[in-house]
Amino acid sequence: MKKIAVLTSGGDAPGMNVALRGVVRTAIYNNLTIVGVKRGYLGLIEKDFIRLNLSSVADIIHRGGTVLHTARCKEFLTNEGREKAVSNMREEEIDGLVVIGGDGTFRGAVELNKLGMPTIGIPGTIDNDISCTTNTIGFDTVVNTVVDAIDKIRDTATSHERIFVIEVMGRNSGFIALEAGLAGGAESILIPEISLDIDEVVKNIKRGVRRGKKHSIIVVAEGVGDSMKIAKEIQEKSGLETRVSILGYIQRGGTPTVYDRCIASRMGAKAVEILLKGEKNKMVGVECEKIKCFDMDYVLSQSKDINMEDYKLAHMLSI
Ligand code: ADP
Repeated sequence: MKKIAVLTSGGDAPGMNVALRGVVRTAIYNNLTIVGVKRGYLGLIEKDFIRLNLSSVADIIHRGGTVLHTARCKEFLTNEGREKAVSNMREEEIDGLVVIGGDGTFRGAVELNKLGMPTIGIPGTIDNDISCTTNTIGFDTVVNTVVDAIDKIRDTATSHERIFVIEVMGRNSGFIALEAGLAGGAESILIPEISLDIDEVVKNIKRGVRRGKKHSIIVVAEGVGDSMKIAKEIQEKSGLETRVSILGYIQRGGTPTVYDRCIASRMGAKAVEILLKGEKNKMVGVECEKIKCFDMDYVLSQSKDINMEDYKLAHMLSI
């Protein structure tokens, strides 16, 4: 193996740049030529390649987003698109590829492996919805951002004695809501994995009111549904003024946390090391502080369950 490529794809996540730095510098340390692909799979199809050197990834360790840019590419969903991508890489004499992204990116990577291009995946998504890894790159950062927002909103909730419904990201999963709800001391956490029971939420609020609590924080994962409607129902049933705060895109960006920087550096290095050993169709993940490799098809076939113990704990501690 002499020359490899790297790309970031799907939704951006803080720490993608750190993983990129890890990949580039490990490749150069091992005397490989390294090429960056701009805008994910779109760049593979459009042959938007740039030669990367040690300085290309200087000063990006603290920056959110991705300097390679990212995109969602419909053409890559077709056989023709993927064949074009592989033939572009062959023309460029690329022997292997590292992709940094979420489950959609990995589904694309599986197809590239089938077409004979050895491809390794690094889990980079704020949603944490990838199996075989305790954390995906970006999850720790987003949870810290959300908890910071909850703390600030709590000041207003306390001052005005109001209920606040705070909507957080996570697509169809509740990992962000659960972790941030536990760390932020939310009275209720609503996640798509558990069926919505507004009466239970209102019961919790009323129990709090009986012991003198005058405000409540309800964290809602975006996958649960319309948080405006949820808030309206809570207000009607509790008789207490309820406000909504949809945190939105502030959650995606920002400086990656130390934890995200460490796992991203380790995963980036490991991805190159296993490519060099002749591995393909693997994802690198972190479990019990150790970086491990998993078959990509296996990763995609497994669903990742939320931690029910944490869900119950958050509920118990909020009484
Ligand atoms: P993420 O990687 O964050 O989950 P997406 O689901 O948008 O983000 O996937 C990123 C890109 O991966 C898509 O734009 C598409 O080009 C490619 N992709 C997604 N699903 C598949 C699939 N089933 N087969 C091949 N490529 C896919």
